[in-house]
Amino acid sequence: MSGIIIENLNVWFGKGRDRVDAVKNASLSVELGQSFGLVGESGSGKSTILKALTGLAPDWSGKMSVQDVTLGKKRDQEFFRTVQMVFQDPYASLHPRHSVDQLLTETLMLHGKTDVNARIMRLLDDVGLGPTFRFRYPHQLSGGQRQRVAIARALASEPRVLLLDEPTSALDVSVQAEILNLLTDLRAEHKLTYLMVSHDLAVVGHMCDESAVMQHGEIVEMLKTEDLRRGHAEHPYTKHLLESSAGYISE
Ligand code: ADP
Ligand code: MG
Repeated sequence: MSGIIIENLNVWFGKGRDRVDAVKNASLSVELGQSFGLVGESGSGKSTILKALTGLAPDWSGKMSVQDVTLGKKRDQEFFRTVQMVFQDPYASLHPRHSVDQLLTETLMLHGKTDVNARIMRLLDDVGLGPTFRFRYPHQLSGGQRQRVAIARALASEPRVLLLDEPTSALDVSVQAEILNLLTDLRAEHKLTYLMVSHDLAVVGHMCDESAVMQHGEIVEMLKTEDLRRGHAEHPYTKHLLESSAGYISE
């Protein structure tokens, strides 16, 4: 079975003179269990690729499939059981008046899970939060703890694929590595496939097996992580990105 395949994807917003071609003729494939990075400056179309996959960008052409299922215009519940997203801003993505317990209970019920109690305890443990976090509210959590809760919510449906949109960009630098390490551990433990957006080459160099470099809506270069670590790049824009993150890409 394949993981994620995207072929000749075009995504646009608006029409006529207001049309923005956010993604142009992008192709990539992510094998099952692989971690793939999308890197590039702000506005280069990275998030739009994730939006197109999840059905949040209605105007697109090309071909997309996840686990051999070809995607049409609508996504069904089975898709959202298999594919979950983690967003950049854990402050905006958690309902302020719902406790961690409420949030996870609702999500588990939505996906038809029974033994909710045991599952909540396991999810909290999976993301490195103890049982005392269960009855807390978002305002009682740090940014890193909120992102752990958002990751627990994403894991509740027992997905195969996580789409991660700059999952650490809103966090303090000191917390970013903790969350990236957690994501690395979870991928191994839960045999997950990742498609991860970052504007930071060091982050995808640390997290991903392969990355696509985007500029102005196009994929300008594909890089294996060995290439990144050795500083091998062909495209001038990738070279520029490599220079600006020199010294930060490591094992
Ligand atoms: P990135 O995630 O790489 O920062 P995005 O995928 O968010 O970039 O955006 C790519 C381009 O598409 C940008 O020019 C952005 O302004 C435009 N865009 C994104 N979402 C919308 C939208 N809902 N309506 C109009 N333009 C959009
Ligand atoms: Mg983005």
